[in-house]
Amino acid sequence: MKTQLNTQDNDRLSTYMKMAEERSKYFIGYPIAQDFDYSELYPLLRLPLNNVGDPWVESTYDLNSRSLELEVLEFFAELFNAPAKNWWGYVTNGGSEGNLYGLYVARELYPNGIVYYSEATHYSVQKNIQLLNLRSIVIRTQKNGEMDYEDLNAMVQMHRDQPVIILANIGTTMMEAKDDLQQIQQILRKQAIKNHYIHCDAALAGTYSALLDLKPGFDFNNGTDSMAISGHKFIGSPIPCGLVLVKKNYKDRIGKAIPYIGTVDTTITGSRNGHSPIFMWYAIKKLGKEGLKQRALECLEIAAYTVKSLNDIGVKAWTNPSALTVVFPAPSIELRQKWQIATEDGNSHVICMPGVSKAQIDHFVADLKEDVVLKAPVLG
Ligand SMILES: *Cc1c(COP(=O)(O)O)cnc(C)c1O
Repeated sequence: MKTQLNTQDNDRLSTYMKMAEERSKYFIGYPIAQDFDYSELYPLLRLPLNNVGDPWVESTYDLNSRSLELEVLEFFAELFNAPAKNWWGYVTNGGSEGNLYGLYVARELYPNGIVYYSEATHYSVQKNIQLLNLRSIVIRTQKNGEMDYEDLNAMVQMHRDQPVIILANIGTTMMEAKDDLQQIQQILRKQAIKNHYIHCDAALAGTYSALLDLKPGFDFNNGTDSMAISGHKFIGSPIPCGLVLVKKNYKDRIGKAIPYIGTVDTTITGSRNGHSPIFMWYAIKKLGKEGLKQRALECLEIAAYTVKSLNDIGVKAWTNPSALTVVFPAPSIELRQKWQIATEDGNSHVICMPGVSKAQIDHFVADLKEDVVLKAPVLG
């Protein structure tokens, strides 16, 4: 590509770049870290890296970052207490793909299983269930967004003859509620369900909940069979990414050897991003477990600051225990657009991911105060 953009397209691009830069300053409503600096890695953007196929099996496509991907997987396998020598995983395009993979493994084990998931579950799960042609039952939630265990118990009891596939949320999208694996497993024992599988959608809160060792636990020591996280949320990445971990003996039913790529087709997509594992690797190595933990503690502090600042102007804001998601009654549409704030059933949220500053919160609270005076629906 030797030619240059014409003047009109050049203007178009620079206008877009300025706008994106500007919008990044008003970005407190989605769970995306913005405090990263990967400039050291920019030379790699010249290379068409591709981790096609299974990360554990070398490919003839040697222009890949498998070796770094494996180190990323090992970091998270240890963080989530995956059983030594009996885990497998890969870097995905995000939490949704990891959830699809977990449910895929569950279906291969229990083709006639029923998926139980709460009504606060991420929208992608419903679609995954349709793609996999699985039966499913939606479970009610409590007020804080957590699964209603009595409802789960009743539903499992009604279908005791079918295998149970639980999709547990470790941080729901709107309120960051966490389903309690202890209570779920108690129900499975009480109903004497022999064939069961638990997948954790830990896309949102998995990484920092494990770093801070929050209770109740949700990792492989706590009954999880597979787990999905997002990499572009708490860790942070310019490209969406994530990771899925499963018990290896389950996954061995999936994937066949493909001569064309000289590796095994065990992943959902064929070509896989070769750059995103390097971003994750870089963040993990640079910050280390301790640095990441410290970062999580700082986020919790900003979340507490946000709740207090909102309460101080009379807005009924709250969080689930040790959550970074601050929930409050929906403000005006103008404010939601300005600060890119998601809203559902009259609730909005600010998510205090790494990169959200006190100055931004102060600015938002000042905007909201004016909004309250002008439009008045926020005061309870
Ligand atoms: C973000 C999120 C997902 C989807 O993850 P992507 O990385 O966007 O694919 C799934 N579940 C929950 C709870 C999430 O917060």
